[in-house]
Amino acid sequence: MKEFINMSSYFNDNSRIRTSSLPIDGKNELSLEEGALITIENERVRLVLNPNGSINEFANKESKLYLVKGATEAPPIRLSLVDRNSQGLLSDNYVMTILENTAEKKAIQFVYTFNSRADATCTISLAKNSDEVKFRVRLSNMTYNGDLSVMDVEYPIVEGIKTLGDKEKDVYAAPFATGFKFLNPTQNFNDVYGLGIGKSSPLGYPVSMSTYPSGWGMTMQFGSYYSENLGGFYWMTQDQEDYIKNFTFTGIGEEELRMSIYHHVDDLGKTAVNFDYDIILANLVMGKWEEAASRYKTWALEQKWVTLIGRAEDRQDINRKLFEKTGLTIFGFRPDVSSWVDMIPTYDAIASRIEDDILNIAIYQNKNYFDLVREYNHAYSVFEFNTISPLEMFYDNSIRNARQDRLAFYIHGTPFYYQCPKSEDWLDNRNKTEQGYFDTYNVDALYFDVFATAVHPIECFDLAHSHGKKVNILDGFYKQLQNASDLADLNGFYSVGIEMITEKTLAYVDFYQARANGGPLGWMETDEIRGMVDNNIAIKIPMFERVYHEFGAIRTDGYLVPLDELGDAYYYIAGYTALNGGINEFNYEYFPTNKLPGAAQINFEMVDYVNRLSKARTTYGKDYMIYGEMLNAPDVNTDYSTYEYSNPNYSATSIATTGRASLEGEWTVEDIVTAAYKNKDGNVAIFLTNVKNAVVSKGFILKALRDYGIETADVYLTSSQNTERRIVTTVKNGEAKIGLRMQPHQVYMLEIIAK
Ligand SMILES: [Zn+2]
Repeated sequence: MKEFINMSSYFNDNSRIRTSSLPIDGKNELSLEEGALITIENERVRLVLNPNGSINEFANKESKLYLVKGATEAPPIRLSLVDRNSQGLLSDNYVMTILENTAEKKAIQFVYTFNSRADATCTISLAKNSDEVKFRVRLSNMTYNGDLSVMDVEYPIVEGIKTLGDKEKDVYAAPFATGFKFLNPTQNFNDVYGLGIGKSSPLGYPVSMSTYPSGWGMTMQFGSYYSENLGGFYWMTQDQEDYIKNFTFTGIGEEELRMSIYHHVDDLGKTAVNFDYDIILANLVMGKWEEAASRYKTWALEQKWVTLIGRAEDRQDINRKLFEKTGLTIFGFRPDVSSWVDMIPTYDAIASRIEDDILNIAIYQNKNYFDLVREYNHAYSVFEFNTISPLEMFYDNSIRNARQDRLAFYIHGTPFYYQCPKSEDWLDNRNKTEQGYFDTYNVDALYFDVFATAVHPIECFDLAHSHGKKVNILDGFYKQLQNASDLADLNGFYSVGIEMITEKTLAYVDFYQARANGGPLGWMETDEIRGMVDNNIAIKIPMFERVYHEFGAIRTDGYLVPLDELGDAYYYIAGYTALNGGINEFNYEYFPTNKLPGAAQINFEMVDYVNRLSKARTTYGKDYMIYGEMLNAPDVNTDYSTYEYSNPNYSATSIATTGRASLEGEWTVEDIVTAAYKNKDGNVAIFLTNVKNAVVSKGFILKALRDYGIETADVYLTSSQNTERRIVTTVKNGEAKIGLRMQPHQVYMLEIIAK
């Protein structure tokens, strides 16, 4: 079998790099000029402020691009009060001061007075040779005044953002639902698909689209807007603590966009809130989402939620069976449906083709199912709603929003009230319940649905609770996760899982469940952007994995079932999930009872592909796909194919939230999925899988020096068809020509071992 072949031509991705011809003049040394406008610049960036401190211009001089230019009307800063009727209070009372004007640093300050509600002190600075303009905001002179108390401050605000030159190449990329890029936002965020990622939540979830930290919103604290392969802009907050924020990027009509960051007051009783972190606005010079993720990672690696746990490979407190020997998750299997006579044959059929362990996340506690799972010695996780309750005794502990409504999650019409985690009684109740699961079922894991990383509200405005006016209750949720983690340790196993993920929860969990990799075949965290997902305007990217993969929290995702009607996009979803470090999931949660499949309907090639991907992960690719650091995947110039799909796994709820009567349509996806990782020894491996049902030959130039810092190396090939590793070529002068003949639904690993 000849897998490694000589191609007649090799794709070279240098051909895609573009340059801007926009003239951007100005001073090359660090300078501050005060005239009709205030200009701070150096050789890399220029910030121009209007007299009131609002942003008139921000220029990336390295890539010759303007984020905004000539914006005279933008507000500099806005306050919101608790009553939500007073959104966006403005101030026309301000004082500007120059704080520092040296050859090393320029810094200015604006103090805004808001009608006796608060004063806001904002600083803006730029250092010599830096591309980072730093903003800070501090509120003072506040008094608690019920509904008229200050709830958040919006700063900075960039209004009047236009295309970066060619709108078809513009991208907004953000850690929304762990990572999406949104194409052509000047057009698509001013169109039928909605106004982009705003503070409000059109579908009425308790969390808004732009909230940080949230798996339903922003999982990390940054955003980016760039022109593909050219350059662009990056923004982040460097908050080591727990301030809740919104990172908004929205259309404002006329093909214009607006970026802003909201900072939530954590305690309404405080007279001053010093948001003690820099807000950075900076350049991107490559025009890739990976550049933004990599830049963020440099900072994230030094934060306590990473330094306290270290790499998963080195940790003693992770579940090795889950990490190293699990090939599939079955979520929401349906032993509750007595008419499903094929329950056991279906499980047997799937299990017969999956060589590794299967993690079962069981919504319905059912002895037959439990016994079946135990027969195979597969893992069994209880599914819990550990933050909501229908019980009268906990009604007073339920969360109130800013309007003082008690909020509930409805299950078959019954309100389960979102619980405030600052109550010890509630947390004790949960500990007892969870211990009961160990005692009764001897479960291997706890899985928490609707957790604070999903749709649960993360602020509580019931001031009668023990937290009083401290409405930011995130620490309560982290304590709850710590309790669960401790309880799991006590019971001799280590798995705690949650719905979705945020960076701050990495220390407590072994796995998280998501659906975003399923694209239009799935739903839930992507419901708010459904039209853009359906039309390939919103495209999933592994942004969270690019920053945090080697620190654990295994993703289980896919929202798949091995049935013909899902179509060949199934293979894309499975390949994408596994190559990006995740475990594939078969999900039966919302199947109509009369559509639950018989064992005879199972498509075994679909199951076998998941098994092949799993074996890559648990055997030859283990050091990379499980424990490695994700690097930039090579551009192999893949073709695309369009497939019809129909996923029966939907319900009345999905129809209401997705606005679609069914999960069926067409989806266009890549033929070749790629990923790259570096293992602990510094070796790099590139993974490729052909998701198309036809042989695909690809030739490309591997840029080992540019992408991975490797100048000379041997390249070894291992594949799912031939697991014996053999040398196929060498990297010389930082490059190697790669030609691969890829069979359908097979996995290829190219290891680059530096010499
Ligand atoms: Zn509360």
